[in-house]
Amino acid sequence: MDKSTVNHDRFNDMTKRDVVVKRLNERGVKLSDIAALTLELQLPYVKELTQEICIEHVERVVMKREVQNAILTGLELDILAEKKLISEPLLSMLLNDYGLYGIDEVLALAIVNVYGSIGLTNFGYVDKLKPGIIKKLDEAGKNKGTCHTFLDDIVGAIAAAAASSIAHRYV
Ligand code: MG
Repeated sequence: MDKSTVNHDRFNDMTKRDVVVKRLNERGVKLSDIAALTLELQLPYVKELTQEICIEHVERVVMKREVQNAILTGLELDILAEKKLISEPLLSMLLNDYGLYGIDEVLALAIVNVYGSIGLTNFGYVDKLKPGIIKKLDEAGKNKGTCHTFLDDIVGAIAAAAASSIAHRYV
């Protein structure tokens, strides 16, 4: 067994869930913030929906390996950009959240795709309206030295995926 396999196996999906939640917290995002977005997305379709149910579905989303890997990758790139540990021209694109970069949205699709095409519709909606925590992250990301290029899309994608999980269940 080579070394990379050994290191990877130390993190099963449950411990990775804890790491992912901790990383999101460190970047200013609580699962309850994401659940609030999910509630906003899905309440028009599921009248009996509550914040608690939304949190359950957000938890379900962050247990999925593809989602965890996308979160870890995106957050790492934001952090490396803030530390200026990325070379040009990528560094400037990330720090300035360059509109035509596009890979932040592509990475977020790995999260959204877990729940199929409803996820995509929900993600588009969040990306366009920038509700709640997304708007906050977007604005904070404009501060010099702060990079939220991947974070805002990741948070939107988790909310959209959780909304889709609810839709599959209730609608
Ligand atoms: Mg972005």
